[in-house]
Formats: sequence, structure tokens, C-alpha cells
Amino acid sequence: MGIPMVANAAEGNQDVFQERMYLYSKMEALTQIPWYYYAAIDQYERSIRRARKDIPKETGLIGIYIKPEVWAGALNPNSNDTNPHSIQLFGGIGLDGNGDGVADQTNDEDILFAMSEQILAYGSDPDNLKIGLWNYYKRDKSVSLIMGIAKIYSTYGTLDLDKHAFPVPLGYNHSYKNTWGDARGWGGRRMHEGTDIFASYGTPVRATSYGVIEMKGWNRFGGWRIGIRDVNNTYHYFAHLNGFAKDIAIGQVVEPGTIIGSVGSSGYGPPGTAGKFPPHLHYGMYKDNGFTEWSFDPYPHLRAWERAERKAKKR
Ligand SMILES: [Zn+2]
Repeated sequence: MGIPMVANAAEGNQDVFQERMYLYSKMEALTQIPWYYYAAIDQYERSIRRARKDIPKETGLIGIYIKPEVWAGALNPNSNDTNPHSIQLFGGIGLDGNGDGVADQTNDEDILFAMSEQILAYGSDPDNLKIGLWNYYKRDKSVSLIMGIAKIYSTYGTLDLDKHAFPVPLGYNHSYKNTWGDARGWGGRRMHEGTDIFASYGTPVRATSYGVIEMKGWNRFGGWRIGIRDVNNTYHYFAHLNGFAKDIAIGQVVEPGTIIGSVGSSGYGPPGTAGKFPPHLHYGMYKDNGFTEWSFDPYPHLRAWERAERKAKKR
């Protein structure tokens, strides 16, 4: 069932979530690292892997990718070595996690166990895990993204967090067109990187996914804005807000439909500037590939979420 398994994994169905959760829990029992850290590392790497072409596609349930030369050791003449002793001798990080005597770089449990040894070097409490993660990834952003995903998973206690909401309640008048790539626009970061949803002042603005508030504040072009990172490592950007919802703070976990602010026309000047264009929500989506971040067109997603919500309401 190798091929259907991968197809299912891409869709993230219940069976796959269950099987992954079983693996994470098994590792938690073995290493004392809570399951949601395994889930977060795995999910972070899966998102990177799917965003890049230079990493082979995953074959099992686990998305973590360890390069053969890192697994087997840089000087190991056999980069596919599965012998835990020679791997150790050559300084590889590959380990036997399921007790079959083989350190198989394609085995989910072996991969998770090898990863746990890398990040456990300083201890299993959050601060020490952060140091372990930094030593492994050598990138601050990777560490904060993984810690953020872990927080979402631990808050909800499930891996099934792919639900979405349209950013404006459907009962409020709103309109939007596909303006992707237009040179002009109100408050994209560079060119127009997003979709403008026109609505009246004060219309509630809602989180579109499960996620963590990563950014909140003023920007000369974007005005009052909020950024939310979801478990797929997608960054959702909300700009030109009239104001923020009470109690919304950086680091806070939100879910689809959480009210984060309201529609406004802020931006294009020093903090507080508003009214230089009609009120609307600028909504952008960004993807991180482990090195850099780029924007992609949110329009088809907005249409799909709006459709799904209308359908659910009719039922
Ligand atoms: Zn815009």
C-alpha cells in the first residue's frame, strides 16, 4: 500500500493523523520529549519539503528529511549505511529507533529517534529543546516556527487542524476580485501581493486558520496589521485594520473564525494615518521554504473558503 499511503498523507486524512500520533506518542514515552514537539518538527519539515524541489518526496508518514551523508557520516564511504556501529564511527547521526538492529534512514521510527537525540542534547524542557533545535537547524526562524507549531498542537491536542474560515463574516457586505500581481494596490509589501476585500469600516476580521499570532503592529504601508502562522507554515497577513480585537497578542493561539480586528483604511503614513483609500482588508499569504519566504495568490483559497462556508450554512 505504499503509493496510496503517500496520497493519503498529502490529503492529511484521519488515518494518517492517527498513525502519526501513534508514532509521536511512542517517541514521547521513549524520550520524554512531549509528542507535540515531534509533531511540530515533523510538520515544519513536511512543509519545507513540499515547498522545495531539491529534497526528495517523503515515502513514509514522517516528513523529516536527514541527508544521507548526515545520517551515515560525512566520511562514510557508504552513504546508505544502516549499521548503527559504523554510522557512529563515521560521526553520522543515524540511529536504530525501533530496535531491529538497523539504522534505516527511510524508517519513520529510526528518523524520529535520530532527531530526538539531536535536539535532546541539552534537556527536554522547552528552553533546552530550543537550544537543541537551534544547534540542529542553525536558523532562528526555524526554531520559532517549530515552537509556534508545537504550541498550536498542544493547545488543541490533535493533528487535524486544516479547517479554514473566510476572513470576513459572510453576513457582512463584502466584495473582492482577483488582483494578483497588479502593480498598484493599497499596501502590498512590494507589488500587490494579496487580495483586497472591500467592506465597511468596523466589519469584523477573522483568523482564517488555526495558528499563532506572529506579528502585530504598524507599518507605513500596511497600517495596523496582523500576521498569523498556521501549522502548514503558511503566513497569513491582514493589513489596513481599523484596530485590533481586545486581548489579541503576539504568541497567542487562534482558530478559524477568531476575531482579530476590524476592517479599516489605515496605512500610508505615520502610525494612525487612515482614510487615504476606501476601507478594505488586504489579505496576503506567504510560504517559507527554510531559507526565504515568498507570497502566493490567496484569491483561489478565499473563494474556496467562502464557498465551503456558504455550503456548510445551507445544511
Ligand atoms: Zn491590498
